[in-house]
Amino acid sequence: MATFIIKKDKFQVKGEDPQNMFNKQVLDRLAIELIRSTTYNVRWEPGHNEGQFAKLVTPLRTFYISLSKSDPGEGRNSYLQSSPTAFANFMNEVKNQGKLGDFVVALRSQGRTYLTDYQKFVVRMLLTIGVKIIDLTAYNLNRNIQPFSSIEDMIRTRQASKRANNNPTFFTDEGENYHLYGKTFGANGKETALLCYAMMKISTKPIRLFQILDNGESSLSGEDVQAFAHFAYLFSTPSMDILDDTYEIDDFTSQAYPDTSTLQLRQPRFIYNLLEKTNGEKKCALCDCKISPLIQAAHIYSVADIKKNVSLTDDEKVRMATDGNNGMWLCMHHHKLFDSAILRITPNGISYVKNDDADSQFIEHSLKEKRLPTIYTNSESRKYFSMRKF
Ligand SMILES: [Zn+2]
Repeated sequence: MATFIIKKDKFQVKGEDPQNMFNKQVLDRLAIELIRSTTYNVRWEPGHNEGQFAKLVTPLRTFYISLSKSDPGEGRNSYLQSSPTAFANFMNEVKNQGKLGDFVVALRSQGRTYLTDYQKFVVRMLLTIGVKIIDLTAYNLNRNIQPFSSIEDMIRTRQASKRANNNPTFFTDEGENYHLYGKTFGANGKETALLCYAMMKISTKPIRLFQILDNGESSLSGEDVQAFAHFAYLFSTPSMDILDDTYEIDDFTSQAYPDTSTLQLRQPRFIYNLLEKTNGEKKCALCDCKISPLIQAAHIYSVADIKKNVSLTDDEKVRMATDGNNGMWLCMHHHKLFDSAILRITPNGISYVKNDDADSQFIEHSLKEKRLPTIYTNSESRKYFSMRKF
């Protein structure tokens, strides 16, 4: 006979009691959905219930079930926060023989009849991964929610759902590969992990995750990293490299290499902060170009000058080199012209060196903006412009 196996102790002191969470009504609904029957045993096991998690073991198949929080109105961004933890446990248990429909996320609600855009985004990621969603409510919470068709689709959707500087992760198309810039501590790490699975599942290109390690935040857990490896093997997905933010990224090839200098200026963190400033959008500040692989993170006060400035402490140097206000998105053309001092950009206007008529005409035509967008002219950015050596 089918048996639910559930750990009976709360994972967190303030968390929900598993025996209340997995009450008879919930178990009946799950059993009907999964095995078309309400005949089952329940085995409560000692141990902390991490991931709001239960297993339903049948002679042919084992289902792994993670419940949402009790209501989408409570803790808006944490409603589905347990699912990545439960999913990692699932991957590490089934290793190379799992079937994705065996992992189930069940939605609950005590009254809220709809999901927020963010909660829908998380459900879309789960569907993209291949997770089965069961709605235990009468509200049809997951109606009309579809998996992502491509990473471009994910990027567009993410940019449209503006969470006012509250996105812990950003991803960009770098041509030969995708870059994912993600915070990896606590709830942020859970979202990053979910994005990694979803990206791996639909990507046609290798993925490179840069872990943004702020203030002693720890990197993704060993369980997550192991689960990625099983997932990649099981679904023959493109590879995923996991790097931290002590790397440098070549502007022209987007290849990453370790920053071996004594003073690491953490370029991935600079890119992350600039993405945060522009809500994940990469568009040249001077022209219409937003072809992602062509758009680069340009420093206003350059890293070379920051390094040379003896009046700064090392901490100040790192802060300036990674400050989003010390950056602009520029296309390759405009970045190169800016760094070669042919193009002079200030908060008051844009000018260029005129020593060849044809070149001047080319530059003139390429400039679609006569002034910098205001996002780059706040008081913090102005300070960096005043420090820049032209
Ligand atoms: Zn441009």
